[in-house]
Amino acid sequence: MKQRPSFPVKLDTDHQKKSHKNPASINWIESDRTGHTLNTVSLTATGLGLDSSVVRKNMVKRLVESGLEDNLVLTALETVERHKFLDTALANQAYEDTSLPIGFGQTISKPNVVARMLELLRQGKNLRITGKLGRVLEIGTGCGYQAALLSYIAKEVYSIERVKGLHEKARENLRPMRIANLHLLFGDGMIGYAAGAPYSGIIAAAGGDNIPQPWIDQLDEGGRIVAPMSVVKGTQSLVVIDKIKGEIRKSVLEQVNFVPLKAGIV
Ligand code: SAH
Repeated sequence: MKQRPSFPVKLDTDHQKKSHKNPASINWIESDRTGHTLNTVSLTATGLGLDSSVVRKNMVKRLVESGLEDNLVLTALETVERHKFLDTALANQAYEDTSLPIGFGQTISKPNVVARMLELLRQGKNLRITGKLGRVLEIGTGCGYQAALLSYIAKEVYSIERVKGLHEKARENLRPMRIANLHLLFGDGMIGYAAGAPYSGIIAAAGGDNIPQPWIDQLDEGGRIVAPMSVVKGTQSLVVIDKIKGEIRKSVLEQVNFVPLKAGIV
């Protein structure tokens, strides 16, 4: 088996540092799929953390109602505290099915879309054979939320971000979670990350006019890419690419709305 590479950036395991981002009490707003507010639940601090698990359970219930069914993905969404990846002012909207700003002009995708993409990633051929996703590459770490989810469904996760400020923000958000199988990288994800290849899955949170060739080259046999792409000018669709016996198969699925995939670092 190929030796694992060493990484330019690894998560710190800082036991002392506690996150001070969250206030002692938050009014959680629950909404239905149309974004209408269902009810407001006020939760207060329990010990060091906030008991937001009830609101997360309800979010997952709504995901199930909308047709999502992969238990591993749903468990990850029930476990990872989305509000910890958002600014305090937005934390009360964390469990609504809505995309939210994360700074630097970028957005975190809505839970429904995140869950859908993770389900698709897990339906690749590799997984059907081995029952597990091996190494996964995420393009666009953003605030680190999806990277945390990926760490539950794959053995090893490499997540790359081109905006330095966001890369640092993700490190800060993820540090208290001490996720050993997640590696954060700062760089241009359009060229993938050859040192970690081959990947059984590649997932992108930003879309361009095509799927960059390095992603296809770095995809393992039986691996799958799930990414937004502009198939028809002016619109964006979710695209799935499978590598089967060296052959590339592309499927175009529903329309989505992601931030643009950009070259270079800032
Ligand atoms: N998965 C993220 C979503 C972030 S939005 C989350 O859970 O928060 C998409 C991200 O892709 C943005 O942060 C943007 O800066 C990043 N991005 C766009 N083009 C990129 C590229 N070429 N390489 C790496 N990241 C890129």
